[in-house]
Amino acid sequence: MSKKTIVVPVDGSEHAKKAVEFAVDWAKVHDGHIHLVHIPEPPAGDEVLVMGGASVTIYATREELEQIGQTIIDAATKMVKDLGLNDVDGSISIGNPARQIVKKAEDLKADMIVMGTRGLGDWKSLLVGSVSHKVMQMAPCTCVTVR
Ligand code: ATP
Ligand code: MG
Repeated sequence: MSKKTIVVPVDGSEHAKKAVEFAVDWAKVHDGHIHLVHIPEPPAGDEVLVMGGASVTIYATREELEQIGQTIIDAATKMVKDLGLNDVDGSISIGNPARQIVKKAEDLKADMIVMGTRGLGDWKSLLVGSVSHKVMQMAPCTCVTVR
């Protein structure tokens, strides 16, 4: 039987970290290959207060976002290797996070997507983040969310 391909989307959150840990465990048992994917999300116009009530809106350039994204992929790659799995690579995709995650799983003919139920968002009342929710609906393969 051929190697199993596991797509693991990482946004830099603790939740995604737990997803990586689960994916590595699973990969070790089922001879899996892990592909990490990150989609830079532009800060939705983060307002920063300047002085005297004035504020400016901060936007990161595409290059800066991709640089941050690469750092996230690098950190996750190191984590996978530290956990004892060497068969790992990663990529950055540009666009809507959920759509890009699903597209990556399709392109790689992935056997499984492993992601966090929540991410960097701080919408505490939500049980499942919007990206997880959409990927679970659109996934072409088994989708595991780790809590
Ligand atoms: P929301 O974004 O809706 O405010 P949230 O941030 O708490 O909610 P999600 O964004 O759905 O939750 O994150 C759930 C999981 O989806 C994360 O743990 C991570 O595995 C994956 N994920 C989310 N955003 C990205 C992204 N931009 N790139 C890669 N993976 C992501
Ligand atoms: Mg999010």
